[in-house]
Amino acid sequence: MPKEFRKYIKVRFYGSLNDFLPHARRQTDNRVGFWGKPTVKDLIESQGVPHVEVFLVLVNSQAVNFNFRPAEGDLISCYPKFDSIPYPEGALHPKYPNPPKFVLDVHLGRLAAYLRLLGIDTSYCPNYSDDAIIGISADESRIILTRDKGILRNGAAVLGYFLRSTDPAKQLEEVAGYFNLKPYFNPFSRCSLCNGQVHQVDKQHIKNLIPHTTFRIYKEFFRCTGCGQIYWEGPHYERIKRLIDKYLR
Ligand SMILES: [Zn+2]
Repeated sequence: MPKEFRKYIKVRFYGSLNDFLPHARRQTDNRVGFWGKPTVKDLIESQGVPHVEVFLVLVNSQAVNFNFRPAEGDLISCYPKFDSIPYPEGALHPKYPNPPKFVLDVHLGRLAAYLRLLGIDTSYCPNYSDDAIIGISADESRIILTRDKGILRNGAAVLGYFLRSTDPAKQLEEVAGYFNLKPYFNPFSRCSLCNGQVHQVDKQHIKNLIPHTTFRIYKEFFRCTGCGQIYWEGPHYERIKRLIDKYLR
């Protein structure tokens, strides 16, 4: 059998997609060798870039989808999410849910609590498997947030974002910026424990469920319609206020 000929293409990544490349390969045409007939999605991910953050692929200036199979000598240009100009015909940009809602991988408990405190619909459970996260994203149209590229590499993962930072506060800042979350913030509306809706309750109705001193000191009380957790001014308020000071001003 004749030995298969190795082919080469050039790939260039734009904007935030360069975050995934070593410095020497950023903002430049990269020569990439391959055998067989891989899809453009496979070639992009072989460079370490998750396909879910690629919003437009041009092959020799023509927009293509992820199943396109490049040929020897093709020039592939990959663009990230952009807001300043309309997407051209053939762009891949995934349709994000409006209002935005998320499913988080199991290592992101703090970020999940922050998003919920700001009223963002956030599915999170420390026991979710990777398959469960991908399934929830597909079934409920939720955007996957993760630091695990393996989850995003899955072909069934369509809506997703790879968190650059390991720090939960910085992650919140990243997500708020990337998905333009500020208009959707609705503090004091969601339970940080279970993602349920939180409503104000008459304090007399929950008198027997909270410490006597707390009942005496605080005026306003809120209760989660999901898990029944009771919130009041105090630690919970302070946490939210700190987040608001940082992200809503
Ligand atoms: Zn709850």
